[in-house]
Amino acid sequence: MAPVIQQERDLINFHMPTAFMIAGLLYLLMPVAVWMLLRSRNNLGLTVWCSGSEIFGVSLILLSLRDVVPEVVSFPLANFLLFFGSLLRLESLRMALGRPLGLVRVVFSALAMVCVYELLRRFSLQPKLHFLWSIALLIGLFGCLSWTSSQIARRDGSHSALWMSFIYVPVILTLLLRFVMVSMDVAMPGVLHNDFAGYGMVIFGVFSAVISQFAYLGVHVEASIQSEMAAVAAKAKLEESLVLGQQIAQLDRVRSVGQLSTSLAHELGQPLTNINLLIQCAESELQALPGPAAQALSGHMKDMARSTQLAIDILQRIRRFIQGKSVEKTRISVNVIAIEVADLLRDWMTLERVRPVFNFPQGELCVLGDGVQLSQILMNVYRNAVQATSGHQDRQLRITVRRAGDQVLVQIEDNGPGLSSETMAQMDQPFFSTKPDGLGVGLSISRAIAEQHGGSLQIANGPEGGACVTLTLPLEA
Ligand code: ADP
Repeated sequence: MAPVIQQERDLINFHMPTAFMIAGLLYLLMPVAVWMLLRSRNNLGLTVWCSGSEIFGVSLILLSLRDVVPEVVSFPLANFLLFFGSLLRLESLRMALGRPLGLVRVVFSALAMVCVYELLRRFSLQPKLHFLWSIALLIGLFGCLSWTSSQIARRDGSHSALWMSFIYVPVILTLLLRFVMVSMDVAMPGVLHNDFAGYGMVIFGVFSAVISQFAYLGVHVEASIQSEMAAVAAKAKLEESLVLGQQIAQLDRVRSVGQLSTSLAHELGQPLTNINLLIQCAESELQALPGPAAQALSGHMKDMARSTQLAIDILQRIRRFIQGKSVEKTRISVNVIAIEVADLLRDWMTLERVRPVFNFPQGELCVLGDGVQLSQILMNVYRNAVQATSGHQDRQLRITVRRAGDQVLVQIEDNGPGLSSETMAQMDQPFFSTKPDGLGVGLSISRAIAEQHGGSLQIANGPEGGACVTLTLPLEA
């Protein structure tokens, strides 16, 4: 029976160093993979973790070569690397937690640990004391690794850190068992000794070598996902507050415009009426003068009087609107209004080298509405169209009036650049303007007037380029 047991022991003795060697190699290889995967993050904690694991791996290999290498290498040096590697990994986790020990403390702690170990090994009367010291230290270090990763798990809600904290528990338990067995003289001291607890230590050591690296990788991936999510949330919050800021600024502008229009409607009414009276006086005096020049001037005066009257009427409408009074709607010919407004802008259009082309149906198409307000819409749309063609050789403005069922459509087309997708997207917002001196309220006001008349105002790109504005109003039979 005795030779069989001896044979088994030899077999196990042969396997223990190999197992240590495998665990050591795993500790050497796995951190390299982790470092390659995470190196783009340029994290000091990662370097410390990987270096710690590498050093730990070297120490396991040195321990496995105890029968081959000199004593000074396989005892003090191997143990120093064992403690130093574990301390470095602990330091990396503490760095992640924001509570680093500092490299100097780590180095001195490892040196102190190995000094005590060496003193016990060389001078203690009890030969197992240095072994128990080493095991006790490892229990403490793995316990700290487990506790620190559980703290990270609690703080960040990281599942990987939680896994890491569990991984060290079986290693700690087998080390503890080994400690108790050796201190009670049930087992022999010696790291490569073949007993039940020794196998457990090796098996769980290999297991922890692999899983702890995956868990560390997971901690980093989770942290980066969390920080990306936090960055996205912060960006969304910033955008939200920017939008809110813009909305507040817009509300403020609307309020200012309200105040301005009240004072404008009040203050401009009187001088405009005076100007109109003076123009009429000048016109009647010019009519009395002979000669073609006087006649031409009289014609211009008439136009000026009409424009001034329109301005007075608009101001009156604004006053009525501010006072909350409703406007009176009458039957109006759309054809007439389309021409009248073009007439009002005739001189300016001539200066701009734009000649409007009208495309009208046979009969008149009428709507029920306020003439001044409807003129305001056309005035604004014509002005935009003429401004849009600025810089073109052949500037075109085509005005089409036609019937579509029980609706009247007024289409104003130009051969300007049309509307870009960005302009289209912001078109509905009041105060949006691409012009350096634009107020960006013309289209909003025009749209509001069209809707008050039961119609709509739409702007789109025309089939041949340029913009096409369509005013739709209910037909008054
Ligand atoms: P403003 O003329 O003060 O800019 P509007 O509300 O009338 O204000 O117009 C808003 C914007 O719509 C303009 O700044 C311009 O970018 C665009 N727009 C309006 N009409 C045309 C058009 N015919 N062609 C191209 N862009 C247009």
